[in-house]
Amino acid sequence: MIESGRNNIYIKRDDLLPFSFGGNKARKAFDFLEDLTKKKANFIVTYGSSSSNHCRIIANVAKSIGLPCLIITPEESFKPTFNSKLMKCFGAEFVFSSYDKIHDTIEDTISKLKDEGYNPYFIMGGGHGNIGTNAYVKCFDEILQYETDNKLHFDYIFHASGTGTTQAGLVCGKLINNSQTNIVGISIARKNPYGSDVIIQSVQDYLEFKKYIFSQEDIKKNIHFIDSYTSTGYGKSNKQIANTIQQVMSDYGIPLDETYTGKAYYGMKQYIQSNNLCNKNILFIHTGGTPLFFDFLNDGGE
Ligand SMILES: *Cc1c(COP(=O)(O)O)cnc(C)c1O
Repeated sequence: MIESGRNNIYIKRDDLLPFSFGGNKARKAFDFLEDLTKKKANFIVTYGSSSSNHCRIIANVAKSIGLPCLIITPEESFKPTFNSKLMKCFGAEFVFSSYDKIHDTIEDTISKLKDEGYNPYFIMGGGHGNIGTNAYVKCFDEILQYETDNKLHFDYIFHASGTGTTQAGLVCGKLINNSQTNIVGISIARKNPYGSDVIIQSVQDYLEFKKYIFSQEDIKKNIHFIDSYTSTGYGKSNKQIANTIQQVMSDYGIPLDETYTGKAYYGMKQYIQSNNLCNKNILFIHTGGTPLFFDFLNDGGE
């Protein structure tokens, strides 16, 4: 617990998961690693921007098990970051593509590798899909265990929501376990209705895959995807977000970043205020991104 007073705020430190600076992409990567080992893949291909935590971790996984790794990346937004430098360190190679050709580039890259005799394994951007969702169903189980062990109940869980995979996993965990927690994803870029629709689809895909039956209504009423704190878009920050990052580092020694967790933490505080939440147990899931904290410092800390 880091704060008490009007509400008790707890942080689940997924940023401390023990691989490549942790984060939700590390949690997902453990499951992708299991799957690709089972499928005897010998080449990893994924997609993401130069600031992607997902691509850093996948490049690290590939290197650690001795597999080559290609990262398909949009050329328009490419700029060197600590994450992209790490990807290079791990020997991953970039395949640049314009935004409108990404889909074709992915298809072409995979079929070329197959022609060359490889068994490539493709991981969607951000680790989207049932495997990524399942990683956060398991995270929800850990939260339930913590509640039992500490005899408390979280009224709310907040976290940064991007592709919505993390949120979909948490919501599936909530539905499967019939928990009463409110899960609130703070969007870091997407707007509604698209942002919510993708999560609903991911939840349905996962529940169907696991043969659970829930009504469309049950699913919909559990999706709280808040798009009021996206600033001006993906990776775009503002003064309030920068102040939040400085304050949380100063007060608690916990690094946040401008793209994901800083935005989400700021959004959570605003949400608590505008909804007058009081005497609640609130859990913030720190989804990682520590290298982006250093990009924030490099850029002048504001
Ligand atoms: C990718 C990422 C997110 C968003 O996760 P999704 O599952 O794509 O919604 C949040 N925080 C950090 C630090 C991330 O790297």
